[in-house]
Amino acid sequence: MELAVSQRVLILNRLWQAVNIIGVKRAFGLLLQNNAKVIHSTDDDFQVLKSDEWIAYSMSNPPINDEDYVRTIQYKIRIPRILLLNYYDKLPMKEVKFTRQHLFERDNYTCQYCGGHFTQGELNLDHVIPRDRGGKTSWENIVTSCLYCNTRKGNRFPHEAGLRLKNKPVRPKWRPFISFFLGSEYNESWRHFLKATRS
Ligand SMILES: [Zn+2]
Repeated sequence: MELAVSQRVLILNRLWQAVNIIGVKRAFGLLLQNNAKVIHSTDDDFQVLKSDEWIAYSMSNPPINDEDYVRTIQYKIRIPRILLLNYYDKLPMKEVKFTRQHLFERDNYTCQYCGGHFTQGELNLDHVIPRDRGGKTSWENIVTSCLYCNTRKGNRFPHEAGLRLKNKPVRPKWRPFISFFLGSEYNESWRHFLKATRS
């Protein structure tokens, strides 16, 4: 039971876009109040089941592992892995926090000048427009750069050092909650939906 309650459920909005990852209790709340349906992934297809259909499915396919169901007075209900909201069609308005870690993730651990791929320890955060020439510490003016390019650029504008940015630095649009859940709580059936919303 403890294991079951610690499971996480991926929430999709009405347009099948991943918007959140929530606990089992909240997920059952949404389902049983008919605010959401279960997306049940079978081999290479998805079935969409209403709460009563999900309960019927749970009864005809009794769960075996403790972590896969919750018990009510009458029956064991399988824990859904993915819920589809009936009404909500927006994406969450969560701002992506401006942090070192998110900058590395936005730039995909590549030097934005030479394009090389590096470990975090081999990368610096570079002010594109140098600070003492009015450059801000912001999404639009900070990029990751390798130590070599960083040294070469020094305290200059990129063009003064013969460097060009690979990408225009912008505030990221992806929702970072997703990357935090690619660890132990990640469920294989989420893959399809998380891939689709990464960009
Ligand atoms: Zn570089």
